Amino acid sequence: MKGYAMLSLGKTGWIEKEKPACGPLDAIVRPIAIAPCTSDIHTVWSGALGERKDMILGHESIGIVDEVGSLVRDFSPGDKVIVPAITPDWNSVEAQSGYSMHSGGMLAGWKFSNFKDGVFAEFYHVNDADGNLALLPEGMELRAACMLCDMIPTGFHGAELADIQYGDEVAVIGIGPVGLMSVAASVLKGASRVFAVGTRPNCVALAKEFGATDIISYREGAIDEQILEKTSKKGVDKVIIAGGDNDTFAEAVRMLKPGGKIGNVNYLGEGESISIPRVDWGVGMGHKSINGGLMPGGRLRMEKLAKLISTGRIHPEKMVTHEFRGFDGIEQALMLMKDKPKDLIKPIVIIED
Ligand code: NDP
Ligand code: ZN
Repeated sequence: MKGYAMLSLGKTGWIEKEKPACGPLDAIVRPIAIAPCTSDIHTVWSGALGERKDMILGHESIGIVDEVGSLVRDFSPGDKVIVPAITPDWNSVEAQSGYSMHSGGMLAGWKFSNFKDGVFAEFYHVNDADGNLALLPEGMELRAACMLCDMIPTGFHGAELADIQYGDEVAVIGIGPVGLMSVAASVLKGASRVFAVGTRPNCVALAKEFGATDIISYREGAIDEQILEKTSKKGVDKVIIAGGDNDTFAEAVRMLKPGGKIGNVNYLGEGESISIPRVDWGVGMGHKSINGGLMPGGRLRMEKLAKLISTGRIHPEKMVTHEFRGFDGIEQALMLMKDKPKDLIKPIVIIED
């Protein structure tokens, strides 16, 4: 089969590989829609995972089940399915302790284009099919559905990690597709004021549409100072980090009230450490907590989040700014993601409708 791969650090291209084998609990899936992710770019061009040779990229896909293992109960060939980017082993002790995303080791629930070939292939392997696949609801359009694989659950996990409560004032740092979903999630969880940090005009427009009350540009001065200024120097109750760099933590801590919480879903691809400002962190006693997490993945989450689309509570399809047709469009879509033109929020490739 054909796949689009990371050949080595900084290098990508088409390769031929054997079709993956299906274990008793697994499924083999054929993609009908895929989307590249900022994480694919970090993987290839920032070396965030280290060297990988001839590894097929991609972890966001809607597909059709081609084959299932002998022990799979709920899925059959021909089913259209949502495949989460994170596919834990649900019988692991880590999953039993509530941290499915770390099943088998830290971050090891992230298998596609990390520990095994990803979804930019004619066929891909899904472990624990009953635990990880979800049926694509009848009539759901692929542009919206494809955002369920990663953008929605990751953005929403940011709101979970930050523990948004009714009436909270929230800052969402970064309003690419992940942060935009964090804005939507914060509003659904009852935030009152939502400060959205970003500059791209169509991201800013969508952030407002999804419920942001204030827009902050990191190009117009320190964002913590801007937010403190707008909150009578008190700061916000919660911060979600979905963009920025290692220094963003210092800004987040500074803009947070004592007792506040930071939820980070940003992928830190560079450097040895992050720094936390000592005095602003209450010299270690400010009750300002920092939670960083990979989204949990799994079937139940896909099914529940899909209902938010079906009932019209969220409109993730509005984030899809570029659409390519046909399997070969994967390469162009990935390169577009790498180049990040100003009008790009999220590209998608529709392989078959
Ligand atoms: P984008 O690159 O599309 O968006 C990044 C956002 O951050 C933009 O709004 C950008 O602003 C803003 N930004 C850039 N620099 C700064 C800065 N110095 N201070 C504040 N804001 C800044 O990324 P995505 O939305 O696709 O992804 C966001 C992050 O989430 C990535 O790191 C990605 O790898 C990670 N991720 C994590 C996952 C998880 O499971 N935890 C899963 C998927 C993704 P501007 O408008 O100017 O461009
Ligand atoms: Zn992704």
